[in-house]
Formats: sequence, C-alpha cells, structure tokens
Amino acid sequence: MAQIIEGQQVAQRIRAQVAQNAADFKAKYGFAPGLGVVMAGDNPASQMYVRMKQRASAEAGIESFTTLVDANTPHDEVESAVKAYNDDARVHGILVQLPLPSQVDEEKVLAQVSLDKDVDGFHPINIGALAMKGREPTFTPATPTGCMLLIQESGMSINGANAVVLGRSNIVGLPMAMMLLKANATVTICHSRTRDLPGIIRQADILVAAIGQADFVKGDWIKPGAVVIDVGTNQIPDASQTRGYRYVGDVEYASANEVAGYITRVPGGVGPMTIAMLLHNTLKAARRIMGETV
Ligand code: NDP
Repeated sequence: MAQIIEGQQVAQRIRAQVAQNAADFKAKYGFAPGLGVVMAGDNPASQMYVRMKQRASAEAGIESFTTLVDANTPHDEVESAVKAYNDDARVHGILVQLPLPSQVDEEKVLAQVSLDKDVDGFHPINIGALAMKGREPTFTPATPTGCMLLIQESGMSINGANAVVLGRSNIVGLPMAMMLLKANATVTICHSRTRDLPGIIRQADILVAAIGQADFVKGDWIKPGAVVIDVGTNQIPDASQTRGYRYVGDVEYASANEVAGYITRVPGGVGPMTIAMLLHNTLKAARRIMGETV
C-alpha cells in the first residue's frame, strides 16, 4: 500500500503560517493583505472556486475584493476591472478566474495584471521566466506549486528523477513540467496525441496526472514505488451520495495505491494546496509591495 500524501494537512499547515504572517503584516502596516478577484460569467465550478477562495482568504486574514461581471461583458470591461485592481492600493494580488467567456481575450487580460500583483503566476513574463534557464519568476501558478510541495513532502528526490506530466494545459500541465525541469527532473509531457501512454508512465518515478479523465491511469501503468500526484477533479455519478455524484481523480486510486510508493487522494490532495498557495502568494505580494525582501 502506498503512503498517502495528505494534501489537506500540508495545506492546513501553510494556511496557518499565512494567517500568522498576515496578522503580523496587519499589525505592522495597519491594513491586511488584499486579494482582488475578477470573474466573468456564471460557470458553476468557477463560482464555487471563487467562494472557496473568498472563504479561505477571510480565514487567513486576507481581505478579498471581487468584481463579478456577466458572461456577455465585452473584453474591454474585463480588462478595465483588472486595471482597477492594479491601481487599488488595498489590493496586493490579482486573480482572474479562468476560463473567461469567448469574447474576452484571455491572453490580453492576463498580460494586464501588474507583475507585482500576479499571484496566479500567469503573466507572460512570469511564465517566460519559469520556462527559461537561469531566470526566476516572481510568482508561480498555484496548482503546480502545490504539487511540487506534495512531491517534496514524500521525501523523493526530484533531482535526476524521471517525471511524467500527463496533460499540457497552461494552468496545470505545462507550468508543472517547467517546474519539475527547473528542479532537475528529466521530464516527459504527455497529452491526447501521445502514443503508448502506459509505456511512458511506467518509466515515471514521479507522475503528475492532470487530464480531467476519471480513473484514467491504471495501477499496472505505475512504476512500483513511484510518487503519484493526482490533479484531476472529475464528477462521476454516485447514487449513494445525496447529491448524486462524487469526485474522483485521473488515477484509478484503488489499483494505483497497490503499486505506488506515495499517492495523493481526490478530494483532499491537490485541491486544498491550490488555495493554500494562492494565499501564500498573496501575502508574498503584499510584503514585496511594502518593500520587504521575500
Ligand atoms: P485541460 O482540459 O485544460 O487540459 C487537459 C490536458 O489533458 C490537455 O493537455 C489534453 O491534451 C490532455 N488530455 C485530455 N484527455 C487526454 C487523454 N485521454 N490522454 C492523454 N491526455 C489527455 O485541463 P486542466 O489542465 O485545466 O485540468 C486538468 C484536470 O485537473 C481537470 O480534472 C481539472 O478539474 C483539474 N484541476 C484541478 C485543480 C485543483 O486545484 N485540484 C486545479 C486545476 C485543474 P491536449 O493538449 O492534446 O488536448
């Protein structure tokens, strides 16, 4: 049986530390670190994520501000909402909830986020620095940063390890692969056109699965002893639950658990880390803006 990497516990530790540091920040400067969230549209998953982020911010002593605009809002208005937060001294971190409606140009909106407030790490300059050797981004995206901490929690050395990242999205797969490469893993990125996924995954000392396909990776694809980080969050029907569904990951947990050395669960693995890292980055942004070295 694999050892479970308890994302919930690791996230709780980080959130407690952020709360302590946010209280110190407020005592020192007389105001709290602030997070500005821009959300366009009424995607229920996005609404839920925004609510969770607001609640977690409040618990950590981070003030949150939210600009909600409807799904038909023109591009310029969304861009203006970001610019307003750039100019708002109460806001130290800006989060643009993705996905944006199709009439809004995501690339342009993300490029408007002030580099000092880019707590999601999606500004092209931060992503560029992440991709390049010898450069350090100011902020890195929350979900892959959380995954890196969970890998470290296992105790497995990333240096020189074979890492396979399943998925190449801008939000998870791609930055995840770049972070593992920066940490000196030998990285293979797999996607929907990859041939012989099981064969490639069997080489992985570290597997990060982020494809959004329920129970896709089977236990016999996994190298014995590997670290398995499951980012996938997939709803599947479950009549035994009052809400009629439950969440599973991209990895078939029961079979993978027999083979892996370390494994995360869904829910309770990567999800809580994403929020914890966002809070961590917001506090970091606030301290940097106040001239502290962090
Ligand atoms: P996207 O849909 O943006 O990207 C999915 C990626 O998976 C693509 O690169 C796609 O390949 C690849 N893919 C899809 N199907 C297959 C397949 N059958 N075989 C191989 N590769 C495949 O998803 P996200 O990256 O945004 O999210 C991935 C998962 O992670 C989702 O379940 C999402 O809910 C979850 N998630 C969880 C978070 C958390 O905090 N826990 C945060 C963000 C996401 P291609 O590029 O070729 O199309």
